[in-house]
Amino acid sequence: MGLSRREFSKLGAMGLAAQMLPSVGVAAQGGERKVGYAVIGLGTIADHFMRGVLASPNSQITGLVSGHRDKAERIAAQYGVPKSSIYSYEDMDKFRDNKAIDAVYVALPNSMHAEYTIRSAKAGKHVLCEKPMSTTVKEAEDMIAACKDAHVQLMIAYRLHYEPLHLKAVKLIKDGALGRVGTINGAFGFDAAPGAWRLNKTLAGGGSVFDVGIYVLNASRYLTGEEPVGFTAVASTIDQDGRFAMVEENVSWTTKFPSGTLATGSSTYGTQMPGYFKVFGPKGWIAMDPAFNYDGMRLRAKFSAGGKGVPDIEIDESNSEKDPAQFTREANHFSECVMTNQRPKSSGEEGLRDMKYIFDIYQAAGVKL
Ligand code: NDP
Repeated sequence: MGLSRREFSKLGAMGLAAQMLPSVGVAAQGGERKVGYAVIGLGTIADHFMRGVLASPNSQITGLVSGHRDKAERIAAQYGVPKSSIYSYEDMDKFRDNKAIDAVYVALPNSMHAEYTIRSAKAGKHVLCEKPMSTTVKEAEDMIAACKDAHVQLMIAYRLHYEPLHLKAVKLIKDGALGRVGTINGAFGFDAAPGAWRLNKTLAGGGSVFDVGIYVLNASRYLTGEEPVGFTAVASTIDQDGRFAMVEENVSWTTKFPSGTLATGSSTYGTQMPGYFKVFGPKGWIAMDPAFNYDGMRLRAKFSAGGKGVPDIEIDESNSEKDPAQFTREANHFSECVMTNQRPKSSGEEGLRDMKYIFDIYQAAGVKL
């Protein structure tokens, strides 16, 4: 049985915890200390992440896990990964003995997150797992327990927790720019292609809230700094073209936070719905549009500066960084956490909270998962 957090911290103070942690690799180039990642599942998001890691001062790609050896060899050559560090899903556990692999990035369909996180933790590797954390609350709890038992860090890849304009919006609200926030609106969705794994409930866990609604839900939580106290929700399927045989097409929900703030969100797989949020308070508003893209974020705001006759404060800022900058930040943060044995900002517990709320939303909408 693993040590409790308190027991582990105690050991840390005695300088013993470090001896129990999996060791962190040392990059070949310049002897600089870098965390080596094995990427599990070489699809769309893995490509963004790997390109992001190239610009990271403390991270590097040192292993690949794939069902397609030819693709993996091509990518390995691009990133300087030796062929001996390419694994299949079946033999992945062998990377336990690969000292160049400190951590994994789980970039698989949702239903595979739990299994590959737990197997990686058991092999002594730190885990950066894509959102949504899992397809059930129980899986999320098991992932947290497995990482605790193995004394490895677990981070959920909420890239926007590290994005400067999102952080600015959070700070403005926290500093009272809008007064007490009354309402938040947000949405995100896209037109899913027939046959996509996202439309297959077994692989995806459920519909668009798992994949894109989660951005809106998560934003309402970090913008308010509060946890929802309840949800109302509705779901519908309009397009009877066979795509939505297993998951619904549209979902809208409203949640109430303890302060009284109401947040409404919508997500869809049936139509293009560019992601945005708007926050309203007695002193003004803040809007992010686009809000959830890989780059090109734009933050606008207008709020009272206080005092009679004083002009309102107006903000219109865009982030000029280009993709994959958000993934570089994400990797930087997790590698820093691995090297200094700190809990990531977007921890497993953060992912678990969203899993519970996603289930609350579907339950409120009368959708059985
Ligand atoms: P893709 O379909 O593009 O890639 C998934 C990869 O997983 C495949 O390329 C494949 O890699 C592997 N895989 C293993 N088994 C299966 C299977 N049965 N069906 C399909 N693929 C399989 O998905 P995404 O990259 O878009 O999404 C992966 C994860 O990342 C999801 O959890 C998603 O929610 C999340 N995501 C996060 C984003 C973000 O911005 N944070 C954005 C997009 C997605 P191989 O061929 O190497 O075996």
